[in-house]
Amino acid sequence: MADVFDKCRAWPDYRVAVAAGIYAYCTPLVERGDGTEVTVHGDRKVIMAGSNDYLGLSTDPRVKEAAIAAVRSLGTGCSGSRLLNGTLALHEEFEARMASFLGREAAMVGSTGFSTNLALAALLGQGDAVFADRHNHASLADAVRLSPARCLRYRHSDMDDLESLLTTTETDAARVIVTDGLFSMSGDLCDLPGIVKLAQRHNARVIVDQAHDLGLLGPNGRGVAEYFGLEPEVDLIAATLSKSFGSIGGVLAGPRDVIDYLRHQARSIIFTAALPPASIATALAALEIVRGEPERRGRVLDNAERLHNGLRALGYDTGTSATPVIPVYVRDALLCMRFWTELLQEGVFTNAVIHPATAVGNELIRVSVMATHTEEHLDRVLSAFERAGRRLGVIPARPPASFD
Ligand code: PMP
Repeated sequence: MADVFDKCRAWPDYRVAVAAGIYAYCTPLVERGDGTEVTVHGDRKVIMAGSNDYLGLSTDPRVKEAAIAAVRSLGTGCSGSRLLNGTLALHEEFEARMASFLGREAAMVGSTGFSTNLALAALLGQGDAVFADRHNHASLADAVRLSPARCLRYRHSDMDDLESLLTTTETDAARVIVTDGLFSMSGDLCDLPGIVKLAQRHNARVIVDQAHDLGLLGPNGRGVAEYFGLEPEVDLIAATLSKSFGSIGGVLAGPRDVIDYLRHQARSIIFTAALPPASIATALAALEIVRGEPERRGRVLDNAERLHNGLRALGYDTGTSATPVIPVYVRDALLCMRFWTELLQEGVFTNAVIHPATAVGNELIRVSVMATHTEEHLDRVLSAFERAGRRLGVIPARPPASFD
């Protein structure tokens, strides 16, 4: 008799890595300090170079105090959906401030970035055509899968492929192009100018998920749309509060009628509990810092440049990224996990990215840079990459002294 649990027992990958001592996931952090140096199990202090907390706000004293004050006055949970008993005045204040920050009519906050992106399924109806970058985040892919719309996936940032898909669909279908702003694994930006040009030519709406770039890119931190000077051309912005905003939660921002419709129709919004007081207070305090301290963006971008240059000088392949999300391509799953383990032993916490987060053959160590990293942190990260990479042969061993 078949058992739905059989597949779990037959799944060897996880145990192979554990047995080899190179399991690279779910490492518990015991303390996070100021976020740049964290304590992992066994009381080892390591540099955190794998966090999406790009601006370092999740440990900022002002943000923490805002969260604590919200717990004191509003409690720990909302115990209900936004539509029913779960809406706080604080949610509405954040939504109004986020909408005004982004220059949109309205914004809506959901419980996570993932679940808020799933709300997009409510927009995508029978007969509609969605054009999606093949490297889009899983939450965008799942939103399309949950909808009856037709999905046409174009090769990553390949505008010729996108154009040929747009050309071959019937003209009366409602069309929408959906893309990540900053791609979460490869660290490169979408070709927004190319997408906007094709959207205008083929009468398609544009939705951009600015999860990684909101707060980080653009002179005012409004993300890739601002970075490219194309904010009016983007119809709907998605984002998350779990990265530069140091919290958890998702955002959709756009025309008021669209946001109102989603608030009342999207299953992942109406059938889930509202974001708790501490999380929304965190996001609100972080938004004020994003607006008021542009120098943080400058620092993280300078830090990223320093690390990019250092890694490339060591001989690493960092792809086409020029952002604080830096992929170091290893292109082998076991080697990737081994490299991650050695980097941790060298005192640096990174992320080992293997399938399904990236294609087989594209395995990488993802390094994420924060505004709060010092030059000394970055130099220590580079030394760790130098030693571990040479030991494992990811970069060539140092030439013999006589050739120096
Ligand atoms: N969109 C993108 C592009 C992401 O990278 C992520 C998170 N990795 C999400 C959405 C989901 O956000 P969250 O983790 O806050 O749910």
